[in-house]
Amino acid sequence: MPGPANVGGSRILLRKLREIMETGGVAQERLDRLVAMIASTMVADVCSIYLTRGAVHELFATEGLKSEAVHRTRLKHGEGLVGLVAETAQPLNIADAPHHERFSYRPETGEDPYNAFLGVPIVRSERTFGVLVVQNRASRIYGEDEVEALQTIAMVLAEMVASGAFGDLSGLADVEARASRPELLHGRAFSDGLAIGTVVLHEPHAPLGRVIADDPVKEEQRLNDALSQVRTTLQDMLDGDPGRISGVSREVLEMFLMLANDPSWETKLKHGVRAGLSADAAVERVRGEHRAKFNATRDPYLRERLHDLEDLDNRLLRALAGVDGAAKQDMPADAVLVARELGPAELLDYGAERLKGLALEEGGATAHAAIVARALGIPMVGLLPGLLSRVEAGDAIILDGERGEVRLRPEEAVVSAYQERIQFRTARAAEFARIKDTPAITQDGAQMTLLLNAGLALDVHHLDEVGAEGIGLFRTEFQFMVSETLPRLESQTLLYRDVLETADQRPVTFRTLDLGGDKVLPYVTAEREENPALGWRAVRIGLDRPALLRYQLRALISAAAGRRLRVMFPLVTLISEFDAARALVDRELDWARKHGRELPAVVEVGVMVEAPALAWSIPALKGRADFLSVGTNDLMQYFFAADRGNARVSDRYDILSPPALRLLKQIREDADAANLQISICGEAAGRPLEALAFTALGYRRLSMPASGVGPVKRLVLSLNAGEAADALSPLLHSDLPSVRAELTSIAAARAWAL
Ligand code: PEP
Ligand code: MG
Repeated sequence: MPGPANVGGSRILLRKLREIMETGGVAQERLDRLVAMIASTMVADVCSIYLTRGAVHELFATEGLKSEAVHRTRLKHGEGLVGLVAETAQPLNIADAPHHERFSYRPETGEDPYNAFLGVPIVRSERTFGVLVVQNRASRIYGEDEVEALQTIAMVLAEMVASGAFGDLSGLADVEARASRPELLHGRAFSDGLAIGTVVLHEPHAPLGRVIADDPVKEEQRLNDALSQVRTTLQDMLDGDPGRISGVSREVLEMFLMLANDPSWETKLKHGVRAGLSADAAVERVRGEHRAKFNATRDPYLRERLHDLEDLDNRLLRALAGVDGAAKQDMPADAVLVARELGPAELLDYGAERLKGLALEEGGATAHAAIVARALGIPMVGLLPGLLSRVEAGDAIILDGERGEVRLRPEEAVVSAYQERIQFRTARAAEFARIKDTPAITQDGAQMTLLLNAGLALDVHHLDEVGAEGIGLFRTEFQFMVSETLPRLESQTLLYRDVLETADQRPVTFRTLDLGGDKVLPYVTAEREENPALGWRAVRIGLDRPALLRYQLRALISAAAGRRLRVMFPLVTLISEFDAARALVDRELDWARKHGRELPAVVEVGVMVEAPALAWSIPALKGRADFLSVGTNDLMQYFFAADRGNARVSDRYDILSPPALRLLKQIREDADAANLQISICGEAAGRPLEALAFTALGYRRLSMPASGVGPVKRLVLSLNAGEAADALSPLLHSDLPSVRAELTSIAAARAWAL
């Protein structure tokens, strides 16, 4: 812990820095005075500022090195000790610089006699602007207080560079221009839709120009007020309704509150303020330390705690900026939230009304926020490396959830192109709204049943919106994925009852927990598997550890008291597995009966056809199962041996290929022969061309995401199912890799609406 001497040292440095800034003069003069001041205050033989321009770190000012080197010494990215500091964004403090493996000798600087080297990055909100260095002849390690003082100066310097406080620093044109240039970032689409809006940072940073405190006493008061606001909010949340799914769970809140009351956190923050920083800047500096530790830590427990600490830092910054809690209302009406990563509960806390879009720098393949974003109808793009270092709050942004792209500070022409696309989508939505209550009957009288895939209570409202006839797949694991602890029996029951009530008379097919594979729970540390998709997942877990599955069945039975209960099991591979799962249903029905509970009026038990082995066992399901649902997402990944989550291979094979279509035809015929109701509930069912093929193969029940219902309904109304079957039939035996093009032209020739 740095001593009080440092507080004084930093404050003197900051005061002198401010004086230099206030005296004006051209940028270069001010930089020259700055390095001279730092060198003399820190008793260093050398002080230099390197600023990053494009691909090089350029020496911009120096005290102690040869002045001819200024603007001539340019280090490539990663070159020399300066490059190392910029690359790691960490301070480098060494006693014997010339012998360091990364030392790069530049004769023009005349730096050979200097042994001690301290370099700190000039960073601001993830962006490295350059490196600030002090050097001494004597071989020594700089003290912790000196490192901290130099970091404080670097932080202020970064603010000044970013805000253009150096005036017209022509050499810095590159750095300054970066923030205003339009940029296009490619990521991955997680939730469909387009948004034109204004960037709001989930993790704000100190406002520009507010780094040095005007009045340290007042600043400490601001910090105290914000700290108590954060603590009170956490306490209120804890005292409030801990059971609600949108909230953070009790244990997490308790941990947060404990950390928020930890005196060492507060001491560190106060230390910054007493050293002359604004409260915001002091928090940002502590957050930087937490982030650096997080990046350097592998231990999962420690990482989680550091993440919590960072989250607290962010809450505090928001409180200081006055945008926390109720003040979130003050966000711009067209807010597009930008964050590194966002939990599902946090997204729910922002709410659909406040957000037009969501862009995440990370948001891994299993981004749980994506589930919530889709349910709320918020367009979302994730996996955008470098996003945070390129945006500022208030920037204009276009979020393209169709293509998985983000455009920062777009040009007028791009904005108007997107406005047109948004208008087009609105017009299409209006067309779908017009036909939503029209029965889904083809031109030749085939009656189709269009159902919805859902996973949260929020999704169920889409039933009316899009005019679906029921829920063909309710993914119960979503509740487990978006909450931060294992949902208890009561909250499961509440959710299922809520879903049944909202669906009213429309049927709901609940699928039991489908965990494992790509569906991971934040609070369960799963054993690492070589091939998770082929691993211990779904009903396999349910049968090996029946407690969880039995509890879930108990919740379902209780929620459906007096009503119709439809439940199905995922990834059943063998008939014996289905029998064992069905026996658990019977056992739970017995339990309910014995305990005098009201039973469901009807119980139907179905199974998903996802494993190829089960696809070839359908005749044996006759009399055992009540219905089947083909999960084409998984069935196709196993059929083609191509990971559905791996973009390299997932698009390589087409469900509209003859072998896949023949398999689907076989499944449908076997189901009919066994007198088993059958549907398709993979994502493909929501795409018009695929829906056309499935109809041609004889499928009459399709369950799909809400966004698919309108387009598929439009297709159905224009389609002749008999003609489609006749047209597809010869293609089933072709040797084409896909019949997509052929089907598309058949549809075009007959004016079937794709
Ligand atoms: C499927 O596999 O097709 C399916 C509907 O289930 P999920 O996508 O949830 O695995
Ligand atoms: Mg599946």
